[in-house]
Amino acid sequence: MLIYNTQTRRKEEFRPIEKGKVRMYVCGPTVYDEIHIGNARTFLCFDVVRRYLTYRGYSVTFAQNLTDVDDKIINRANEQGRAAREVSEQYADAFIKQMHRFGILDPDIRPRATREIAAMQEMIQGLIDQKHAYAVPFGDVYFSVRSDPHYGILSGRNVDELMSGARIEKNEQKKDPLDFALWKATKPGEPSWPSPWGDGRPGWHTECVAMIHRYLGVPIDIHGGGQDLIFPHHENETAQCMCNWHTPLANVWMHTGMLTIDGEKMSKSLGNFYTLKEVLDKYPADALRLLMLQTHYRSPLDFSFERLSGAIGTLERLKSCVKNLKWAAKNAPQDGGLSDHDRALTKAVKEAQASFTAQMDDDFNTAGGLAAIFGLVTAGNTYLSEAGSDTSTAAALRAADALVELSCVLGIDLSSKDPEGLPSELIDLAKRYTDFDGDDPVEAAQALIETRQNARKAKQWDTADAIRDGIAGLGLVIEDTQAGARLRKKA
Ligand code: AMP
Ligand code: ZN
Repeated sequence: MLIYNTQTRRKEEFRPIEKGKVRMYVCGPTVYDEIHIGNARTFLCFDVVRRYLTYRGYSVTFAQNLTDVDDKIINRANEQGRAAREVSEQYADAFIKQMHRFGILDPDIRPRATREIAAMQEMIQGLIDQKHAYAVPFGDVYFSVRSDPHYGILSGRNVDELMSGARIEKNEQKKDPLDFALWKATKPGEPSWPSPWGDGRPGWHTECVAMIHRYLGVPIDIHGGGQDLIFPHHENETAQCMCNWHTPLANVWMHTGMLTIDGEKMSKSLGNFYTLKEVLDKYPADALRLLMLQTHYRSPLDFSFERLSGAIGTLERLKSCVKNLKWAAKNAPQDGGLSDHDRALTKAVKEAQASFTAQMDDDFNTAGGLAAIFGLVTAGNTYLSEAGSDTSTAAALRAADALVELSCVLGIDLSSKDPEGLPSELIDLAKRYTDFDGDDPVEAAQALIETRQNARKAKQWDTADAIRDGIAGLGLVIEDTQAGARLRKKA
């Protein structure tokens, strides 16, 4: 498997530190507002990296932080006359909610900066003890960039180049314009923690390194973020790790290209953004995923609503092929053997699986992976239109399953059962139950539960599941309790 490593500027064969295991980390958001779809692109790309590594048999441990103390949060809180903590908690919740809607899997570990202060202070003290950092009288602590002979290794910049343009702000007491803050002395009204250098809060570049060391151990296999984080954020992260623990922070550095609008980077400061929430309020999450994954993760991606509409159509093609194949499987003649059409389709399945893996093995080429999926859609549609009654259950089902499985590696969920698959009288019963206002329509609930139980008794598990899922699609859950099954509205 090849992965492009920002540090070496080439694709390298991926070799995890520990056989079969991958430890990865992706810098999380600063929680001061809803994230925009540019941020979402970066998180999506790493969600797919993680899903694909898992698909390839690795056991992946994935950590992502929440930056919940920062100038942006403090400014937002001051503007709104609220506590910084209230603001950061609101947007941390909002972030997690939108990630779920976007189909992004939760990290295994989600540390928050404000809960990791001790680990950060310990690292800062280590850097001071080793003369890589110094405290100034006001209580700031700075990292001494020139004390690190490797500084610039990740971004390929050298210290002298960086000197031009660097300057010391009036309120700063650092010794060298290149130095960056590890600890910031508190200002009135800001959140702060006691420290050996005075009350203050951690600098942004310090957070991730301390958390990575604490939760994953250094070095890790993969560290990721958007390309705008390569310098200075990731350069500063690896410098601290190198100086404190004498090991690089990560073996492979992966960076995603920027999402742009009319060729310009989407950013809060330019005002040219759409929040993930507003887009997901109007469009299917999987269409946005599909649109984003049609471009390689390292390339820039120009977003437009026309392209998103196009992706909705593409998603529909994929979904209806799966549905039609399942239908063909259900209605295949019972005693039919394998026809030439079946054999051709089975061959197309194998080719699509092999091509998908080959593309994804080449630095997560999701566009190539999607092309493999759509190659199978074309073969599936040909089969459906040409095979007539010459179909077999096994061939059609295998093709449908392959489409579902490969799409799932990209986080596109085609497995959900269609609530319309529920017989209409059951839908009517469920609606009577959801719409009730006042007396519990006991009969409706009982009828639903009984229909499911009869299916189970008859060992018609698919039907029983379809009833449960169909009902869930209408906002109801069947709970199996000791006293029997019960129906209730979802919270
Ligand atoms: P921030 O909260 O600004 O640190 O951003 C969170 C993540 O989103 C970081 O990994 C950034 O590199 C990434 N990011 C920010 N803007 C964009 C963009 N326009 N396109 C892709 N990724 C972005
Ligand atoms: Zn970071």
